[in-house]
Amino acid sequence: SIPLGYFGGLGAASRNGILFKGASFLDAMTKLNTIVMDKTGTITKGVFKIKEIKSFGMEEREFMGYLMAMEAQSTHPIAQAILQYKNGNISKAVEVSELAGKGLKGIVNGKKVLVGNRALMDANGITVPTETDSIVETIIMVGVDSDFLGYVTIADELKEDAHQAVQQIRNVGISELIILSGDKDSITQKVAMELGLDWAKGGLLPEDKLNEVEKLKQRSDNVISFVGDGINDAPVLAISDVGIAMGGLGSDVAIETADVIIQTDQPSKIARAIKIARSTRRIVW
Ligand code: ADP
Ligand code: MG
Repeated sequence: SIPLGYFGGLGAASRNGILFKGASFLDAMTKLNTIVMDKTGTITKGVFKIKEIKSFGMEEREFMGYLMAMEAQSTHPIAQAILQYKNGNISKAVEVSELAGKGLKGIVNGKKVLVGNRALMDANGITVPTETDSIVETIIMVGVDSDFLGYVTIADELKEDAHQAVQQIRNVGISELIILSGDKDSITQKVAMELGLDWAKGGLLPEDKLNEVEKLKQRSDNVISFVGDGINDAPVLAISDVGIAMGGLGSDVAIETADVIIQTDQPSKIARAIKIARSTRRIVW
């Protein structure tokens, strides 16, 4: 049976928009010393805006038509940004599939289309113009057959409480705070630097995130929480000691896999959850 004090803890958490899937996670949470966060949708808003559109050998509207046709079949935050474009001549994409951490592949107007990051273009032998090397924003590249068709740059911003969240996590004494992201490493480092985190890695595939968290777990006294929102985060949420999902923006798989759900999507609720867990332990013991 569950000691009475736990109900108080679970209740206090739920009044704060934090859902624990069981009392055992309250206990695990009191022992955390490492917190790993995803970037997009977790510490940043996950609401991207288009900054620049560059198409080669095709009118912008037509180019955006290819891209939008593909993104119309994706639920990624990037897709929502691209679909904000007003003048697109949307065609229909067929056989669209998601390539985890890389982008999308499919067929538009009978042509093989790839939409995603640099790694996706490289893997398919598409030559990327060097001008994209110096761009700091997230770049969505489009390849058709074996040609580079163009790119769109998009930018996201930190959540309102991102700085506060980091400060509070430090205040509760977490010794290592990290970001692991599928987005470009340059952006990931910029965000980590701005927030004063211990370290960060970008350009990671879901399995790379998994490997990084496995490595952290192997350190003798490490108790780890991973905080994420995406389909790609489900495997790491599952293997971390306390998986925390953003409940508002989060994908269904992330929410299902996590042990704790932050319904308000606020990263500052991470420290709040730790405090509630600790005061619950004091009452129970
Ligand atoms: P994060 O770990 O920051 O949440 P993801 O793993 O979801 O990032 O995505 C990693 C990268 O894969 C994106 O930055 C983007 O380059 C590419 N990508 C993923 N989904 C899409 C999509 N629907 N359209 C274009 N690019 C995508
Ligand atoms: Mg994410």
